[in-house]
Amino acid sequence: MKKAFLVRAVLALAVVGFAAGAATRFVFISRPRAAARIVSSGRNERTLILDPGHGGADGGAVSVTGSFESKLNLDIALKCRELAGLFGVTAVMTRESELLDYPKDAATIRAKKVWDTKNRTDLVNSTENAVLISIHQNKYTTASPHGSQALYAPTEGSAELAQSMQALLTQVTGESKRTAARIGESIYLLNHVECPAVLIECGFVSNAVEAKRLEEQDYQLKLAVVITGAYLNSIS
Ligand SMILES: [Zn+2]
Repeated sequence: MKKAFLVRAVLALAVVGFAAGAATRFVFISRPRAAARIVSSGRNERTLILDPGHGGADGGAVSVTGSFESKLNLDIALKCRELAGLFGVTAVMTRESELLDYPKDAATIRAKKVWDTKNRTDLVNSTENAVLISIHQNKYTTASPHGSQALYAPTEGSAELAQSMQALLTQVTGESKRTAARIGESIYLLNHVECPAVLIECGFVSNAVEAKRLEEQDYQLKLAVVITGAYLNSIS
C-alpha cells in the first residue's frame, strides 16, 4: 500500500468522524447500536467480496462528463479493499482491472456479459461465509435525481446491512435522503447469490454536480469509508 494513500485514508476517517458527529465518530471503534449484525455460521470468518459492477466489454452507464461507470466502480472498490486491509480484512475482488479475459466462445457483448455475470455469481456462491458488496452508479433520463442508495438482496442479513450502510451514507455524504430498498428482480447477481448481499448505487452519473463529485478521489474515499465501515460494523 502506498504511504500517501494510508495517510489520506486515516485523514478521511478523521474527517468523517468530525463531519458526522458523535454518532459515527467511532464507527470503526465501537459498533453503533443500530448497526446490522451478520453472524458467521460455523467456525469460519466472513469473507468480504467486493464487486465493482461492469468492466471489460461492459462499461456500464456513461457519465455526463464522459466517464464510464465501470471505472468509477473499480476506483471505489479498490479503495474499499485498501481500507478493509487496514483492519485486517482481506477482501476478494470479482475483478481488479478494467480488462476482463473472456472465453473464445463469448463473441458478442451480450454473451460476454452473460459469461461475466455467471462467473461472478459462481465466485460468490463458491465462497464460504461470503458477504457481497456490489458497487455501481445510478443513471436517470433527467438530470435532477441525485444521492446514493443501498439496495439489498432477498437473502438473510442483506436488508440489515443495506439499512446500516444507508444510514451511514446519509450521515457521511450528507447527500442522500433515500432509503434502503430491495433490489429489482432484473439484477441477476443479487437475485442468485446465497449470501448476504448489498448493491450500492453510489450516485447519479446523470447529475452534473454528482457526476463530477464521483470522480473526485476524496469523495470516492468517503464512499469507501462508508461501505467498508458498514461491513466492518456488521461483522464486529
Ligand atoms: Zn451499474
